[in-house]
Amino acid sequence: SGARVRRAHNKRLPQYLERGVDVKFSDVAGLGKIRLELEEIVKFFTHGEMYRRRGVRIPGGILLCGPPGVGKTLLAKAVAGEAGVNFFSISASQFVEIYVGVGASRVRALYQEARENAPSVVFIDELDAVGRERGLIKGSGGQERDATLNQLLVCLDGFEGRGNVITIASTNRPDILDPALVRPGRFDRKIFIPKPGLIGRMEILQVHARKKPMAEDVDYMAVASMTDGMVGAELANIVEVAAINMIRDGRTEITTDDLLQAAQIEERGMLDRKERGPETWKQVAINEAAMAVVAVNFPDLRNIEFVTIAPRAGRELGYVRMKMDHIKFAEGMLSRQSLLDHITVQLAPRAADELWYGEGQLSTIWAETADNARSAARMFVLGGLSEKHHGLSNFWVADRINEIDLEALRIMNMCYERAKEILQQNRKLMDAVVDELVRKKSLTKQEFFGLVELHGSLKPMPPSI
Ligand code: ADP
Repeated sequence: SGARVRRAHNKRLPQYLERGVDVKFSDVAGLGKIRLELEEIVKFFTHGEMYRRRGVRIPGGILLCGPPGVGKTLLAKAVAGEAGVNFFSISASQFVEIYVGVGASRVRALYQEARENAPSVVFIDELDAVGRERGLIKGSGGQERDATLNQLLVCLDGFEGRGNVITIASTNRPDILDPALVRPGRFDRKIFIPKPGLIGRMEILQVHARKKPMAEDVDYMAVASMTDGMVGAELANIVEVAAINMIRDGRTEITTDDLLQAAQIEERGMLDRKERGPETWKQVAINEAAMAVVAVNFPDLRNIEFVTIAPRAGRELGYVRMKMDHIKFAEGMLSRQSLLDHITVQLAPRAADELWYGEGQLSTIWAETADNARSAARMFVLGGLSEKHHGLSNFWVADRINEIDLEALRIMNMCYERAKEILQQNRKLMDAVVDELVRKKSLTKQEFFGLVELHGSLKPMPPSI
């Protein structure tokens, strides 16, 4: 039992576990009959033994197919919530786009955690990012993705039919998935989630209105009729914006008018996203250029495959694809300095926004990457990499949480200053990359490094922390 105590003590905090997931089917609206299929998945957990006795094969993986924002993630959480099991999640684009080399070991770690904490749902968002048919991607980036995909296949096979770890993945492109992924025993069950129709939209609005002070006579049907083509994420947003409207006017109830106005704002936003004006293109270009320009200064991040501001799958603004070079990334942990460099790159868009637009006019364009930086900084501290806490074991006990956040904040501030410094030293390069991006929308590796050669002022940076 001594060993057991030690093991419990050394046990790492699961990285991919989402705590406090308390979503129920009643939080997901407008699904009609699809809900029955998902209820069956819950039964695989709650009545697994019965299925096995009757010889019914429990699927290892379920594929939720549909456009962004229709509630695929929400549904996966609801399955875990209804079954009362743990929810583990990862976004496939995360591990292929930045940490190409560590993709496979992350998949392994994810499943190990899920198994140790079974029963559990593993949710993989944007499966197509890693599950694209092999051989379609040329070059070494393709090989590394293959390693990630192969690892995923191995993990899926390990759980087939057991019913204590069920994988749910989401994709908008089931058609391009590697055939190996959809073979029997893997993602052999596909559920299509379409955009909601009129009644669906009304129900979704009503679900989100449940937790808000609504006026009694709100006409949900009127709002549903003028939001044709919108998905759950947008409808949820409308209710939020309407609530802000009400508060700003000092009222205590949300009215139909608030909702209709908010719907108009959402509609305009949708158009903006589809047809960006020149200012928006430039802003997105600054955002992406900043990441590339800062990354190229770091040994493990400088292998940039391409930079683009072309909208993709309606989700991200644009992206920089970096490939980490070194063998040391292939297995396990990132080195301390590389993790700091990574945080610095994620903060570059925020730093660029300040340098190019000024403190007074900050936008929220960098919110997502700043969020990545925040979790990476926490990982840095939790992993015991920060000087201040080096060597501390049971570091994550509750009373230290605040200390962790403070230390993460300190690291973020340092990385932020470093990003600013690098951008200031490379103003010429930034301007050149932004201009080219606005003109051509995408830069290849050769084009980007051509500009670096011409305008970059690369200075090896001393470790900053
Ligand atoms: P997806 O995974 O399909 O991109 P999400 O599940 O992340 O979409 O949806 C984002 C948010 O939009 C949800 O957290 C929820 O607030 C809202 N939403 C989306 N679809 C629905 C739905 N069918 N019912 C209720 N809310 C929804």
